[in-house]
Amino acid sequence: MSMQIKRPKGTQDVIPADIRKWRTVERITSEAAERFGFREIRTPVFEDTGLYVRSVGDTSDVVTKEMYTVSSKGDDTFTLRPEGTAGVVRAMLENGILNEGLPQKVYYIIPCYRHEKPQAGRLREFHQFGVEMFGSASPYADAEIILLARSVLESCGIGGLELHINSIGCPECRAKYKEALKGYFEGYKSELCDTCLERLDKNPMRILDCKSPVCKEIANGAPVILDYLCDDCREHFESLKSILEDCGVKFTVDPKIVRGLDYYTRTVFEFITDCIGAQGTVCGGGRYDGLVSELGGQKTPALGFGMGLERLILTMQSSGAAFAEQPVCDIYLVPAGEEAHRRCAVLTDLLRQRGIAAEYDLMERGVKAQMKYADKIKAKYACVIGSDELESNIARVKNMSTGEETAVSLGCFADEFMKIINSAGD
Ligand code: ATP
Ligand code: MG
Repeated sequence: MSMQIKRPKGTQDVIPADIRKWRTVERITSEAAERFGFREIRTPVFEDTGLYVRSVGDTSDVVTKEMYTVSSKGDDTFTLRPEGTAGVVRAMLENGILNEGLPQKVYYIIPCYRHEKPQAGRLREFHQFGVEMFGSASPYADAEIILLARSVLESCGIGGLELHINSIGCPECRAKYKEALKGYFEGYKSELCDTCLERLDKNPMRILDCKSPVCKEIANGAPVILDYLCDDCREHFESLKSILEDCGVKFTVDPKIVRGLDYYTRTVFEFITDCIGAQGTVCGGGRYDGLVSELGGQKTPALGFGMGLERLILTMQSSGAAFAEQPVCDIYLVPAGEEAHRRCAVLTDLLRQRGIAAEYDLMERGVKAQMKYADKIKAKYACVIGSDELESNIARVKNMSTGEETAVSLGCFADEFMKIINSAGD
């Protein structure tokens, strides 16, 4: 026997028994986005590598360590999408959508690829629900995005999530802040991890995002960005906070949130849970007012978030949230004998044309084994068809939960079965 090939590390199969979880979160997220006036957009799984280097940033973990880059036959190199925003911005520009009236609001549900150390809630292929809004610089837009994320999380039935917000200012306030940070961390050069030593010169804000306990401890005493905001950035942040308060949204101002991607400006936020262990950030997002022009468009304020669907499902499971039921078989036809089998093939087809989920035996089992199978797949009704039924043209449809039987004429089977399910209220 040859060796079985296993799935790549950090990937998951979604088997049929789990698909309802995915259908549930896909439905809840897309319905919420559409309620807020967002429309779906789909972009390629792979993009020009330069797109991510320019947008996500060449000091980010995503670009320096996590990209899956492939070269194709020519000289081009492509990268499997590590996040959704860059591709969407590219598509908005390439299709001229930003000329069509603002704000433009889009959402997506996509697989993303990052070369990370796999663990619970951290995969190499994972899925994101994301939204992006273009054209508004108003703090009401920031609030709108946060309210949408909150609406999704509430519809998923998860409580106990904390919203953390921060402002990382504009490039002007950030320049002064980076200087101050650099000065502070320079005093701890001997203790910082190797990665953070590199970050010290290139982008000291990244150190605040380091997961090593020593760097975290040092970062606790670091200067705080909120003390360096310019008047406009401060006013924007103050307005956002009061809109959130008006809407009854609880939040914590957390000056340590800097987010992992370079393109953020002003508002950044995360929804965090403590019930799925270390990978507790279910949703992260913020404003990126410089990205559209960075990618060749007109200067356009914009913002959005990404929500990890694996982490969302883990959180739902651990908080006992309900997933929608799987669709079940409405009726299972149980043929006894060759002629009945041929009749069942036709009847099943007619039932399906009427929108009924119908199945019949494909294993050539005996009647008893077929009834057992009907039970196992949780068929709502079953109907045995043998030579007696063919002769009398009447069969009995059995309600599998009550045992009640109803006579049905084979000549107008689908019509009569519809009446049964309608009167049963299924
Ligand atoms: P983290 O700090 O956990 O690495 P991040 O800052 O890299 O997260 P973003 O790039 O903002 O995450 O992505 C948005 C969301 O996507 C995250 O909040 C998380 O829910 C999810 N996510 C990110 N990376 C992974 C991954 N490797 N596996 C599963 N989900 C992920
Ligand atoms: Mg990350």
